[in-house]
Amino acid sequence: MEDEKQDMKIAEEVGAVSYKALLMARDLVKPGAKLIDVARKAEGFLKENGFGAAFPLNLSVNAQAAHYTPALDDESIFGDADVVKVDFGAEKNGTLGDCALTVDLSQNNQKLVEASMEALQNAISVVRGGVEVRKIGAEIERSILAKGFLPIKNLGGHTVKTHDLHSDIFVPNYDNGDDTKLEEGMVVAIEPFATNGRGMVSESDICEIYGFESDAQVRMKESRSLQEEIKKRYSHEPFAVRWLSNVVPSRFALYAGVAELARQGALTMYPTLVEVGKGMVAQSELEIVVEKDGCRILTK
Ligand code: MN
Ligand code: MN
Repeated sequence: MEDEKQDMKIAEEVGAVSYKALLMARDLVKPGAKLIDVARKAEGFLKENGFGAAFPLNLSVNAQAAHYTPALDDESIFGDADVVKVDFGAEKNGTLGDCALTVDLSQNNQKLVEASMEALQNAISVVRGGVEVRKIGAEIERSILAKGFLPIKNLGGHTVKTHDLHSDIFVPNYDNGDDTKLEEGMVVAIEPFATNGRGMVSESDICEIYGFESDAQVRMKESRSLQEEIKKRYSHEPFAVRWLSNVVPSRFALYAGVAELARQGALTMYPTLVEVGKGMVAQSELEIVVEKDGCRILTK
């Protein structure tokens, strides 16, 4: 019981700092601002406060739904009309935060953003010990359809465990018929995605986020140094390619080395996910803990 109380204290601490970092990043997303500056500042904020990152800051723009993080020396800037999904989380002793929001720089996509926000509020209102995940999905789907948009069906929420961001239970964004129940005490991220596209994402050929998978034999010297460093620094949580810039002498060596490691099965790839109809995408995400008669928000 004491241990559980201690764990919950850390989960609350991680949730609170995750949310602070998220709002900090949100306030830096402006037309003309460089994506990489936003990422450096938000990631630096966690470090300065004694936390790790559960994953690199995700800044996915327009039809990108998730998993874009700036490349090394990324020169891209936000446009006047970008719809930006900011997704981030802190880490401490393997306890992980996960929360996201959408910045609509032109204010022309407010209905879309509201659809994802309302879906999240409505989803949370049905969470209690014993709720079936399909019920949460149904609530998300209903809310988003009512606003005239589609939920993204192949993305969804997830339970969160130590060093395991996407743990065993998937929380759908529609009624998928799954009667798996959420139990009291579970930590869960709920994340509706709304779109004016087709309601599906697919993997693009952009990949800036990877995770350590297992040791592998690699040919290039650079790949071996990278493998060594990745095992040391990022054996648990996903990392951004740009975080390894000091390990090898050039940008070319870095990307070639990471590509070789991925090819050999040493790394898991998290490619940028894009809406298949090239629709605009909005996302809202919170991390909660399930209680007997409701839930408590951790990322606040
Ligand atoms: Mn997230
Ligand atoms: Mn998530």
